[in-house]
Amino acid sequence: MKSVQAETLFRSIEQRRDDLIALTQSLVRIPTINPPGDHYLEICEFLKRRLEATGFETELIRGKGTPGDSDRFPRWNIVARREGKHPGECVHFNSHTDVVEVGQGWTKDPFAGELENGKIYGRGTCDMKGGLAASIIAAEAFVEACPDYAGAIEISGTADEESGGYGGVAYLAEQGYFSPERVQHVIIPEPLQKDRICLGHRGVWWAEIETHGEIAHGSMPFLGDCAIRHMAAVLNEMETSLFPVLATRSTSMPVVPEGARQSTLNINSFHGGQDESPTGFTGFPSPCVPDSARMVIDRRFLIEEDFSDVQQEIHDLLERVKSQREKFSYDVRELHHVIPTMTEKTAPIVESAAKAIKSVLGQDAKYVVSPGTYDQKHIDRIGRLKNCIAYGPGLLELAHKPDEYIGVEDMLDSARVMGLCLIDLLTDAGEQGEKL
Ligand SMILES: [Zn+2]
Repeated sequence: MKSVQAETLFRSIEQRRDDLIALTQSLVRIPTINPPGDHYLEICEFLKRRLEATGFETELIRGKGTPGDSDRFPRWNIVARREGKHPGECVHFNSHTDVVEVGQGWTKDPFAGELENGKIYGRGTCDMKGGLAASIIAAEAFVEACPDYAGAIEISGTADEESGGYGGVAYLAEQGYFSPERVQHVIIPEPLQKDRICLGHRGVWWAEIETHGEIAHGSMPFLGDCAIRHMAAVLNEMETSLFPVLATRSTSMPVVPEGARQSTLNINSFHGGQDESPTGFTGFPSPCVPDSARMVIDRRFLIEEDFSDVQQEIHDLLERVKSQREKFSYDVRELHHVIPTMTEKTAPIVESAAKAIKSVLGQDAKYVVSPGTYDQKHIDRIGRLKNCIAYGPGLLELAHKPDEYIGVEDMLDSARVMGLCLIDLLTDAGEQGEKL
């Protein structure tokens, strides 16, 4: 049995089908490529016009001084809020507005938003302008179905998620926009698939390891000390004593894909000796013993692992190599780290989304955890808000690929789910329980 509110909501969403398609297409046609972070102001102004027309109050906030922010490429964000008729809690939908570069291999125009066989094609359709459009339609249809709702709805469009989110959600969280006094529930409509609730992500540690040597003429390497050979010994130690151990550590986090349910380490880059020749230079390199080699590691760790142990493991490995090699010296520089986060399945937003998925799709929600991080990290760490999930339409595998698309039916279904969450959390129909 569906409540009257849910039936009105579903009708109202269905009536907005063409609007949802047009909205997604308009968003995709603003090429907000990051880096460098183009057209952020344009997309915020577009969203401002759209949301003010349905009674939202909006603020445009520039992440001034954040990485990448400049007068040429300002980091603009929008936060829109619509107050209800009575006091209550606030449900916030956060979407990033940036998209990654186009890349090769497209058969469609990446910024035309072509509609074909129920799919809209273009860079950012799936990740995540389709999710942003679905959340706007859900909110607008909810306001029509339940004009007397309590609390508030917020919708934000934020910069730079693809490059770490420092000019976007992190900046807003530092300014208090995600404080638990202001916001109680957060849904991030990233493309996790309409039947899945994403509870969080693994941790990350990026660090640069450098080995040192001594420069000398390449014809007399015995007069110098080769930093690359030292680094090769580090790699060898990783192959024999680290990678096999990481592969045995497994997590109770439901990470997808399953291969990521273990600790992993990627070597993001490796460089030794002279710099690469500049493009167009046709000469030969000169013969020198390299006095420096650098490697950037990308260690993804599990909620069961302690961050200090993760760091210690690398330091221990380097000390082992040092004990085996003469003149071995090294530095480790931390570049960036994020602690793993996972929202409890009993958190209100998780329970609400699970009920809504069951009602819309007729099946139990699947709980997943992301192998990589997304903006939930800032909401958790800076905003101190745990009641947060990623939930949205689209297939994660299509993100960042050529011919990326979003299915119209998927967007409609996830808009229904998001709308039901609003009924559940902001109206009496929800409080009375199981009517959804
Ligand atoms: Zn994304």
